[in-house]
Amino acid sequence: MKRSAKNINKRPNKKTSDVGQVSKVNDRTSDGGNPQSELLKWYAKSGRPLPWRTTRNPYRILVSEVMSQQTQIERVIPFYLRFMELFPDEKALAAASTDAIHRAWKGLGYPSRVERLRAACQVVLARGGGWPDTVETLQELPGIGPYTAGAVACFAFARVVPVVDTNVARVYARRDNLPLPLDRVGIWSHVAVQVDPKDPIKYNNALMDLGATVCTARVAHCEICPWEHRCASRGNKIIQDATANPLKVASKKVNYGVEIKNKKKPRLHIVLALIHHEERYLVARRKKNSHMGGYWELPGGKLEKGEDHRIAIAREVSEELGAEVRSARSIMSFHHEYDDRYLTFHLYRCHLFNPEAVKALASDEIRWVTPEEFVELDFPPANKPIQARMAKYHRLG
Ligand code: SF4
Repeated sequence: MKRSAKNINKRPNKKTSDVGQVSKVNDRTSDGGNPQSELLKWYAKSGRPLPWRTTRNPYRILVSEVMSQQTQIERVIPFYLRFMELFPDEKALAAASTDAIHRAWKGLGYPSRVERLRAACQVVLARGGGWPDTVETLQELPGIGPYTAGAVACFAFARVVPVVDTNVARVYARRDNLPLPLDRVGIWSHVAVQVDPKDPIKYNNALMDLGATVCTARVAHCEICPWEHRCASRGNKIIQDATANPLKVASKKVNYGVEIKNKKKPRLHIVLALIHHEERYLVARRKKNSHMGGYWELPGGKLEKGEDHRIAIAREVSEELGAEVRSARSIMSFHHEYDDRYLTFHLYRCHLFNPEAVKALASDEIRWVTPEEFVELDFPPANKPIQARMAKYHRLG
């Protein structure tokens, strides 16, 4: 992977400069080592003894990586151990029933993850049983994105590749005072050239542990950090706060809709309910004889004058589904431009008191779909930003 000059060599921009001064970075002496040896020395003493770190089996490593997505490591350990007893290898998982894998996964959430895991095992077996061993070829398996592919390529096959999660991005953002917001390609390139070629497995594991236990989002324990003497942010609470989740900063900047350029054009506000229940989302098919008939959409509608967003959501959900909203949390707003007006959509993630009772009162059909199905549905062009946001959130595509 090539180092990106754009992101690495850039001087701190105004925003970065605002969050803190880079001063006296190298005024403490190290133990005479280089960054890699300092980190590995720390890891030898303070690394976490996780059960999947004793194996190089790609199946087991893949399971641990998929389980760890959006779940805390401490919670994952008992699930991982039990899963390995039930499905010790790819053959066992590939042959398991949907009921059996859902039972084993219960409590971890997002059961579509285990279905994708099984699908990946089935593809591997159908191809003869050998696991792909590079970042590129691993991504040809169902449900494996760049992060998981990097993790399996490194931890199972000792490939010298970066494995950058939010924790790792935070460590580098702080240590090297990288300009914010970080972009994913830039941070991967930045880490790629620093992975220890002699021991990429330990190096990547050590980085993850440093970010998870020492340089955490909430607090940076600089006094016990092996990189304190070479860190631009040590002891600087302002930079540390600004870099708590450097990748999220980037995602907030994504503008999914259009910009409002003509302020004189009329603007209508629409609220939409992204209703979630048991890892699925509710979608409705527009009536055939209506405008955009046959397209899928989310329940919702026009905001009435002076109406509160959440009241409007509750009203629309009651009218269109006969259901009662229990909670509604704002996810995003975006604009869409027509010749004569702008529509501003306000998306809320909702839970219902009675999800089993929903009825298609204002549509031809309603369905509960998985995130994978959601991003593939035919939505009207104005609603495409919602699918883009969902694909990013669920790391699809
Ligand atoms: S010195 Fe502090 S801010 Fe810098 S990497 Fe270590 S823990 Fe993080």
